[in-house]
Amino acid sequence: ASTWANVPQGPPDAILGITEAFKADPNSEKINLGVGAYRDDKGKPYVLPSVLSAEKKIIEAKLNKEYAGITGVPEFTKAAALLAYGPNSAAIKEDRVAITQSISGTGALRIGGAFLERFYPGAKTIYIPNPSWANHSAVFKDSGLKVEQYSYYDEDTIGLDFDGMISDIKGMPEGSIILLHACAHNPTGVDPTQDQWRAISKAVKEGGHYPFFDMAYQGFASGDTDRDAFALRHFIEEGHTPCLAQSFAKNMGLYGERVGAFSLVTSTPEEKKKVDSQIKIIVRPLYSNPPIHGARIASEVLNNPALNKQWLGEVKGMADRIIEMRALLKKNLEDLGSKKQWNHITDQIGMFAYTGLTAEQMEKLAKDTSVYATKDGRISVAGITSGNVKRLAESIYKITG
Ligand code: PLP
Repeated sequence: ASTWANVPQGPPDAILGITEAFKADPNSEKINLGVGAYRDDKGKPYVLPSVLSAEKKIIEAKLNKEYAGITGVPEFTKAAALLAYGPNSAAIKEDRVAITQSISGTGALRIGGAFLERFYPGAKTIYIPNPSWANHSAVFKDSGLKVEQYSYYDEDTIGLDFDGMISDIKGMPEGSIILLHACAHNPTGVDPTQDQWRAISKAVKEGGHYPFFDMAYQGFASGDTDRDAFALRHFIEEGHTPCLAQSFAKNMGLYGERVGAFSLVTSTPEEKKKVDSQIKIIVRPLYSNPPIHGARIASEVLNNPALNKQWLGEVKGMADRIIEMRALLKKNLEDLGSKKQWNHITDQIGMFAYTGLTAEQMEKLAKDTSVYATKDGRISVAGITSGNVKRLAESIYKITG
């Protein structure tokens, strides 16, 4: 028999299935709200002008293609840390933040998982929200951590189950690892308020838990990179020493360039040095060193004052378009006379909206109206345009009333 005769067929990726069904649909007015990538108001992928300018500069500089060090392009990681932790961060000023470039956000999560599996002194269980980004569980399991869930989403309010979340944090064994979405929670679009974050920080501290922040959408949620970093910075001010996965896929539109960073706040520069050395030992056998092109682009965008200013405006432009599409969708549903409450569409934030539609309704939406999105009722607001929002609202209204 063949060596691989016993390999079982794996299930297809849920999002890929949607894209295939979308492609096969002959309806010229079909709408794809499955993919987690920004689209402009014409429904087209968007390369940020600041990113194009940075890339042009880099190409014109005719740099060589030598390897970066194991932890990547230093000008990039330095600027990435400043973006996340803020220009006034004591942890950075005191040289207590270990950081490495990573294969975008996913790679950062994986390095973090591997580091915690090897060195976290407590139980190697990570608690992720229910629901969470579909890949979290797999990334952490493959890193050797045990994965559990905490309450996050309230089906009845289509909002945050704050009491359930706090109660679950209090119920975790002392010193548990907790994964927190820093902003623009995926898939729900439901974020805690700043006051709720303060209470979450307190509960995490009282439990002696260890916070791991996943920040895949800094700037993309509110349009303001500082505002979106509130939770992370607040936790640090309160004495936590979290670790952090950063992605530049969404906020710089660098998706396929795979630009990210993993960092960890330590207590002293000596500790930072030791952590750095172990991160290198983890990364070296995984992929030796990260790709340089995207990191050079991100570095130019972050470090060149004029490009940085331009980029911040472009991030805000993307966030504002998404916020506007949320408002338009809600208005269109209300204008149609929908008896349902649609406040959650505008209360939620970031790329995704959790509509509250059931799996059966989502199936009907695809079959009857050629609107494609995941079965959990999540729609990518980035896929809505001023040209398709009316038809989308009509489709949703047809199915939900
Ligand atoms: N974390 C969350 C919550 C995400 O939504 C994503 C992307 O969709 C990622 C991490 C990582 O994405 P990437 O590896 O493309 O940076």
